[in-house]
Amino acid sequence: MIYKIESTRPQQFIDITDKVEEEVRKSNIQEGVAIVYVPHTTAGVTINENADPDVVRDIISSLDKSFPVHGEYLHFEGNSHAHIKASLMGSSCTVIIKEGKLMLGTWQGIYFCEFDGPRNREFYVKVIGG
Ligand code: ZN
Repeated sequence: MIYKIESTRPQQFIDITDKVEEEVRKSNIQEGVAIVYVPHTTAGVTINENADPDVVRDIISSLDKSFPVHGEYLHFEGNSHAHIKASLMGSSCTVIIKEGKLMLGTWQGIYFCEFDGPRNREFYVKVIGG
């Protein structure tokens, strides 16, 4: 299933856990895996804390220290920092499903990671039984 998402800031983590849960519910699969895939080169996906919003702010600011927006890069588009950060986060994640529920830890959420926004984006969710 393809989900549309709209980022509103240049760099932003958007909690998409509820969308993935919705896809699991719709599938009626009780045991299996959910795969989230981001088909972009300057956005990624990661799983991290969803309780304290400062955690994702710290991740973005720490990535910025290592890979500044205006650094010394070769890529003509001027968004190399976003490509690097997207690769570090990765373009997919997999969560195990047990008894129809995502087996996320208590404080874990699934985040779409925007590094070159704001823009319209999408991500895919595939639920596989087994
Ligand atoms: Zn580029």
